[in-house]
Amino acid sequence: MTRPLLPVTADVATRLAGTPLLLMLDVDGTLAPIAPRPEDAAVPPETRRVIEALAAHPRVIVAFVSGRAASDVVRLAGVSGAWVVGNHGFEIVRPDGSLLDGGALGSARDAVSGVVSDIAHVVASVPGALIEDKGWTASVHFRLAHASAAPALRAAVDRAAERYGLRVMEGKKVFEIRPNEDVNKGTVALRLMRELANDGAAVVYLGDDATDEDAFASLRASAPAAVTARVTNDDGTRTAAEFSLEDTNAVTRFLKWLAAQRGIRAPNGP
Ligand SMILES: [Mg+2]
Repeated sequence: MTRPLLPVTADVATRLAGTPLLLMLDVDGTLAPIAPRPEDAAVPPETRRVIEALAAHPRVIVAFVSGRAASDVVRLAGVSGAWVVGNHGFEIVRPDGSLLDGGALGSARDAVSGVVSDIAHVVASVPGALIEDKGWTASVHFRLAHASAAPALRAAVDRAAERYGLRVMEGKKVFEIRPNEDVNKGTVALRLMRELANDGAAVVYLGDDATDEDAFASLRASAPAAVTARVTNDDGTRTAAEFSLEDTNAVTRFLKWLAAQRGIRAPNGP
Protein backbone atom coordinates (compact mmCIF):
# COMPACT_ATOMS: atom_id res chain seq x y z
CA MET A 1 0.00 0.00 0.00
CA THR A 2 1.24 3.43 -0.91
CA ARG A 3 0.85 6.08 1.78
CA PRO A 4 1.02 9.87 1.56
CA LEU A 5 4.52 11.28 2.17
CA LEU A 6 3.04 14.49 3.59
CA PRO A 7 2.79 15.25 6.41
CA VAL A 8 6.14 13.54 7.08
CA THR A 9 5.81 11.09 9.97
CA ALA A 10 8.45 10.65 12.69
CA ASP A 11 9.69 7.30 11.34
CA VAL A 12 10.17 8.74 7.84
CA ALA A 13 11.86 11.85 9.26
CA THR A 14 14.41 9.54 10.91
CA ARG A 15 15.12 7.87 7.55
CA LEU A 16 15.56 11.31 5.99
CA ALA A 17 17.98 12.56 8.65
CA GLY A 18 21.05 10.67 7.31
CA THR A 19 24.12 12.29 5.80
CA PRO A 20 24.70 12.94 2.99
CA LEU A 21 21.22 13.41 1.59
CA LEU A 22 21.08 12.04 -1.96
CA LEU A 23 18.06 13.60 -3.60
CA MET A 24 17.14 12.11 -6.98
CA LEU A 25 14.43 14.00 -8.82
CA ASP A 26 12.58 13.30 -12.03
CA VAL A 27 11.74 16.57 -13.78
CA ASP A 28 8.65 16.46 -16.02
CA GLY A 29 5.51 15.81 -13.99
CA THR A 30 7.52 15.84 -10.75
CA LEU A 31 9.11 19.32 -10.60
CA ALA A 32 7.59 20.83 -13.76
CA PRO A 33 3.85 20.42 -14.32
CA ILE A 34 3.18 18.47 -17.54
CA ALA A 35 2.78 20.90 -20.45
CA PRO A 36 0.97 20.19 -23.74
CA ARG A 37 4.26 20.56 -25.60
CA PRO A 38 7.51 19.42 -23.89
CA GLU A 39 9.30 22.65 -24.79
CA ASP A 40 6.69 24.62 -22.82
CA ALA A 41 7.34 22.81 -19.51
CA ALA A 42 8.84 24.92 -16.70
CA VAL A 43 10.06 24.38 -13.15
CA PRO A 44 8.32 27.00 -10.96
CA PRO A 45 10.75 29.62 -9.55
CA GLU A 46 9.88 28.66 -5.96
CA THR A 47 10.79 25.01 -6.64
CA ARG A 48 13.97 26.05 -8.44
CA ARG A 49 15.11 28.19 -5.50
CA VAL A 50 14.68 25.46 -2.89
CA ILE A 51 16.50 22.91 -5.08
CA GLU A 52 19.34 25.36 -5.70
CA ALA A 53 19.67 25.97 -1.96
CA LEU A 54 19.69 22.21 -1.29
CA ALA A 55 22.27 21.59 -4.05
CA ALA A 56 24.55 24.29 -2.62
CA HIS A 57 24.68 22.56 0.77
CA PRO A 58 27.89 20.52 1.21
CA ARG A 59 26.07 17.48 2.59
CA VAL A 60 23.25 17.39 0.05
CA ILE A 61 23.64 15.88 -3.42
CA VAL A 62 20.95 16.69 -5.95
CA ALA A 63 20.59 14.60 -9.11
CA PHE A 64 18.01 15.24 -11.81
CA VAL A 65 16.96 12.01 -13.52
CA SER A 66 15.12 12.51 -16.77
CA GLY A 67 14.28 11.09 -20.16
CA ARG A 68 15.22 14.40 -21.72
CA ALA A 69 18.69 15.07 -23.07
CA ALA A 70 20.93 16.31 -20.22
CA SER A 71 21.44 19.70 -21.88
CA ASP A 72 17.66 20.11 -22.03
CA VAL A 73 17.35 19.22 -18.33
CA VAL A 74 19.95 21.84 -17.45
CA ARG A 75 17.99 24.45 -19.41
CA LEU A 76 14.65 23.39 -17.92
CA ALA A 77 15.77 23.02 -14.29
CA GLY A 78 17.92 26.14 -14.28
CA VAL A 79 19.79 24.92 -11.20
CA SER A 80 23.57 24.77 -10.92
CA GLY A 81 25.55 22.40 -8.73
CA ALA A 82 23.45 19.32 -9.48
CA TRP A 83 24.16 16.00 -11.17
CA VAL A 84 22.13 15.53 -14.33
CA VAL A 85 21.10 12.14 -15.65
CA GLY A 86 19.65 12.47 -19.13
CA ASN A 87 18.25 10.05 -21.68
CA HIS A 88 16.92 7.69 -18.97
CA GLY A 89 20.41 6.97 -17.66
CA PHE A 90 22.44 6.77 -20.88
CA GLU A 91 23.95 10.19 -20.16
CA ILE A 92 25.32 11.12 -16.70
CA VAL A 93 26.74 14.61 -16.22
CA ARG A 94 28.66 15.71 -13.11
CA PRO A 95 27.90 19.06 -11.44
CA ASP A 96 30.97 20.54 -13.20
CA GLY A 97 29.48 19.64 -16.59
CA SER A 98 31.81 16.73 -17.36
CA LEU A 99 30.38 13.47 -18.61
CA LEU A 100 30.72 10.35 -16.43
CA ASP A 101 32.10 7.40 -18.49
CA GLY A 102 33.12 9.80 -21.24
CA GLY A 103 29.72 9.21 -22.80
CA ALA A 104 30.25 6.15 -24.97
CA LEU A 105 27.50 6.88 -27.46
CA GLY A 106 28.87 4.49 -30.08
CA SER A 107 26.51 2.68 -32.40
CA ALA A 108 23.41 3.83 -30.53
CA ARG A 109 23.74 7.22 -32.23
CA ASP A 110 23.44 5.70 -35.71
CA ALA A 111 20.56 3.41 -34.75
CA VAL A 112 18.58 6.24 -33.13
CA SER A 113 19.06 8.55 -36.10
CA GLY A 114 18.08 5.68 -38.40
CA VAL A 115 14.77 5.25 -36.58
CA VAL A 116 14.18 9.00 -36.50
CA SER A 117 14.62 9.36 -40.26
CA ASP A 118 12.60 6.20 -41.01
CA ILE A 119 9.51 7.30 -39.10
CA ALA A 120 9.73 11.06 -39.67
CA HIS A 121 7.10 10.92 -42.43
CA VAL A 122 4.73 8.80 -40.30
CA VAL A 123 5.01 11.21 -37.37
CA ALA A 124 4.60 14.20 -39.68
CA SER A 125 1.37 12.69 -41.03
CA VAL A 126 -0.22 12.67 -37.54
CA PRO A 127 -1.37 16.18 -36.55
CA GLY A 128 -0.04 17.06 -33.10
CA ALA A 129 2.62 14.33 -33.00
CA LEU A 130 6.30 15.22 -32.94
CA ILE A 131 9.59 13.37 -32.81
CA GLU A 132 12.60 14.47 -30.79
CA ASP A 133 16.11 13.15 -31.45
CA LYS A 134 18.06 13.21 -28.17
CA GLY A 135 21.20 11.44 -29.39
CA TRP A 136 21.19 8.40 -27.13
CA THR A 137 17.41 8.00 -27.36
CA ALA A 138 14.45 9.51 -29.22
CA SER A 139 10.93 10.42 -28.12
CA VAL A 140 7.71 10.43 -30.13
CA HIS A 141 5.34 12.80 -28.32
CA PHE A 142 1.62 12.49 -29.05
CA ARG A 143 -0.08 14.45 -26.25
CA LEU A 144 -1.58 16.86 -28.78
CA ALA A 145 -2.53 14.16 -31.29
CA HIS A 146 -5.94 12.50 -31.47
CA ALA A 147 -6.05 9.43 -29.22
CA SER A 148 -7.13 7.24 -32.12
CA ALA A 149 -3.78 7.85 -33.84
CA ALA A 150 -1.74 6.25 -31.03
CA PRO A 151 -1.96 2.54 -32.01
CA ALA A 152 -0.81 3.08 -35.61
CA LEU A 153 1.92 5.41 -34.42
CA ARG A 154 3.07 2.82 -31.89
CA ALA A 155 3.09 0.12 -34.57
CA ALA A 156 5.28 2.25 -36.85
CA VAL A 157 7.63 3.07 -33.97
CA ASP A 158 7.86 -0.61 -33.01
CA ARG A 159 8.67 -1.70 -36.57
CA ALA A 160 11.41 0.89 -37.01
CA ALA A 161 12.91 0.22 -33.57
CA GLU A 162 13.03 -3.51 -34.27
CA ARG A 163 14.81 -2.90 -37.57
CA TYR A 164 17.63 -1.13 -35.70
CA GLY A 165 17.66 -3.37 -32.65
CA LEU A 166 16.28 -0.67 -30.35
CA ARG A 167 13.66 -0.95 -27.61
CA VAL A 168 10.42 1.03 -27.17
CA MET A 169 8.93 2.10 -23.83
CA GLU A 170 5.69 3.99 -23.33
CA GLY A 171 5.45 6.94 -20.93
CA LYS A 172 2.83 9.64 -20.52
CA LYS A 173 1.75 10.30 -24.13
CA VAL A 174 5.24 9.51 -25.34
CA PHE A 175 6.99 6.54 -26.94
CA GLU A 176 10.63 6.33 -25.92
CA ILE A 177 13.01 4.66 -28.38
CA ARG A 178 16.23 3.59 -26.72
CA PRO A 179 19.16 1.17 -26.99
CA ASN A 180 18.41 -2.40 -26.05
CA GLU A 181 20.69 -2.21 -23.03
CA ASP A 182 20.07 -2.76 -19.38
CA VAL A 183 20.19 0.93 -18.53
CA ASN A 184 17.19 2.63 -16.98
CA LYS A 185 16.31 4.94 -14.11
CA GLY A 186 16.63 1.95 -11.77
CA THR A 187 20.18 1.03 -12.75
CA VAL A 188 21.21 4.68 -12.63
CA ALA A 189 19.60 5.27 -9.22
CA LEU A 190 21.56 2.35 -7.77
CA ARG A 191 24.74 3.55 -9.44
CA LEU A 192 24.40 7.09 -8.06
CA MET A 193 23.69 5.64 -4.64
CA ARG A 194 26.83 3.46 -4.79
CA GLU A 195 29.05 6.27 -6.05
CA LEU A 196 27.70 9.24 -4.10
CA ALA A 197 26.13 7.91 -0.93
CA ASN A 198 27.27 5.66 1.92
CA ASP A 199 25.73 3.55 4.67
CA GLY A 200 24.65 6.56 6.69
CA ALA A 201 23.11 8.41 3.79
CA ALA A 202 19.50 9.43 3.34
CA VAL A 203 18.28 8.55 -0.13
CA VAL A 204 15.21 10.01 -1.83
CA TYR A 205 13.73 9.36 -5.27
CA LEU A 206 10.70 11.28 -6.57
CA GLY A 207 9.08 10.52 -9.92
CA ASP A 208 5.73 10.42 -11.65
CA ASP A 209 5.89 8.07 -14.57
CA ALA A 210 6.27 4.47 -15.74
CA THR A 211 10.01 4.93 -16.30
CA ASP A 212 10.42 5.95 -12.63
CA GLU A 213 9.01 2.60 -11.54
CA ASP A 214 12.39 0.97 -12.30
CA ALA A 215 13.98 3.32 -9.77
CA PHE A 216 11.29 2.76 -7.13
CA ALA A 217 11.58 -1.02 -7.46
CA SER A 218 15.40 -1.11 -7.51
CA LEU A 219 15.78 1.18 -4.52
CA ARG A 220 13.17 -0.61 -2.46
CA ALA A 221 14.88 -3.93 -3.17
CA SER A 222 18.45 -2.71 -2.50
CA ALA A 223 17.97 0.12 -0.01
CA PRO A 224 14.83 -0.37 2.09
CA ALA A 225 15.45 2.88 4.00
CA ALA A 226 15.38 4.93 0.77
CA VAL A 227 12.30 7.11 0.55
CA THR A 228 10.53 6.62 -2.79
CA ALA A 229 7.46 8.62 -3.78
CA ARG A 230 5.33 8.69 -6.91
CA VAL A 231 3.61 11.93 -7.85
CA THR A 232 0.00 11.01 -8.46
CA ASN A 233 -3.45 12.03 -7.36
CA ASP A 234 -4.84 8.80 -8.74
CA ASP A 235 -5.16 6.21 -5.99
CA GLY A 236 -5.56 3.51 -8.62
CA THR A 237 -2.04 3.93 -10.06
CA ARG A 238 -0.02 0.81 -9.55
CA THR A 239 3.36 1.78 -8.22
CA ALA A 240 6.40 0.23 -6.58
CA ALA A 241 6.95 3.49 -4.68
CA GLU A 242 6.38 3.39 -0.93
CA PHE A 243 4.81 6.86 -0.77
CA SER A 244 2.76 9.26 -2.85
CA LEU A 245 2.75 13.04 -3.35
CA GLU A 246 -0.42 14.40 -4.88
CA ASP A 247 1.05 16.87 -7.38
CA THR A 248 4.05 19.04 -8.20
CA ASN A 249 3.00 21.53 -5.48
CA ALA A 250 3.25 18.76 -2.90
CA VAL A 251 6.73 17.98 -4.23
CA THR A 252 7.76 21.59 -3.59
CA ARG A 253 6.32 21.47 -0.08
CA PHE A 254 8.28 18.28 0.62
CA LEU A 255 11.52 19.80 -0.73
CA LYS A 256 10.98 22.82 1.53
CA TRP A 257 10.46 20.49 4.46
CA LEU A 258 13.75 18.71 3.63
CA ALA A 259 15.57 22.04 3.45
CA ALA A 260 14.07 23.27 6.71
CA GLN A 261 15.08 20.05 8.49
CA ARG A 262 18.70 20.80 7.63
CA GLY A 263 18.47 24.47 8.45
CA ILE A 264 18.79 25.39 4.78
CA ARG A 265 17.05 28.61 3.82
CA ALA A 266 16.03 29.24 0.25
CA PRO A 267 16.20 32.91 -0.69
CA ASN A 268 12.96 34.64 -1.49
CA GLY A 269 12.69 36.55 -4.70
CA PRO A 270 11.46 36.40 -8.23
MG1 LIG B 1 8.27 12.51 -15.22
